[in-house]
Amino acid sequence: MNKYRADLHIHTVLSPCGNLEMSPANIIKKACEKGLDIIGITDHNSTRHCKLVSKLSELAGIFVLMGAEVTTREEVHCLTFFENDSKLDEFQRYLEKHLPSIPNNTEKFGYQVVVDENEDIIEQIDFLLLSALDQSIEQIEKKVHSLGGIFIPAHIDRPSYSIISQLGFIPDDLLIDGIEISANCKTRSIMPSIGNQLGKSLIRSSDAHYIQDIGKVFTTFDMESRTFSEIKKALHNSMERNVSIA
Ligand SMILES: [Zn+2]
Ligand SMILES: [Zn+2]
Repeated sequence: MNKYRADLHIHTVLSPCGNLEMSPANIIKKACEKGLDIIGITDHNSTRHCKLVSKLSELAGIFVLMGAEVTTREEVHCLTFFENDSKLDEFQRYLEKHLPSIPNNTEKFGYQVVVDENEDIIEQIDFLLLSALDQSIEQIEKKVHSLGGIFIPAHIDRPSYSIISQLGFIPDDLLIDGIEISANCKTRSIMPSIGNQLGKSLIRSSDAHYIQDIGKVFTTFDMESRTFSEIKKALHNSMERNVSIA
């Protein structure tokens, strides 16, 4: 078994709140400097930068978990991840179908741009990616799992946009693959809110919107190799794989 250092919650320049320095190339460079083995690319309600980051990461020896940070109708942020390009593409179509057509106000929220490997802007996204989808948390969880994906409520300790702030609890019957806490969360303080989902793996991620935040906290994955299915097994403490946080 091997230990891998993972930061599974990183925004790119595609997120309106993501700093313009957060290009795919810069993210990989920083992830290398920080000694990360696995990074998750999780822009708000879009997967459009995942494939480029994944492609650029191959030379750097970093494994990219491709996904998005989805905003549910209840305004709960959830991390979602997919195994391959076709599943990612299907989820991207679902996101586009369910994102309301509210124009982005660039002065208020910032730019939402897709870049190429030379960091040239190839597209600007018109609709605000921060909006909530017209789908409930249960509907989104079902969609993610129908595609064999990973579904993790994000930064549950935060006072806004978290499952605890919005619902007050984690529903017993919600199928989750783990629980994310934010950089400074004390695990003991959050335990009472987790309720019957207490056995689920905790991950800690940076939620980096600025380059210097990448890898400032991480989760250790103890598993055989860096693949989507190994990551899923580790999250579920299956076959002696597991995850741990500092
Ligand atoms: Zn969030
Ligand atoms: Zn985030």
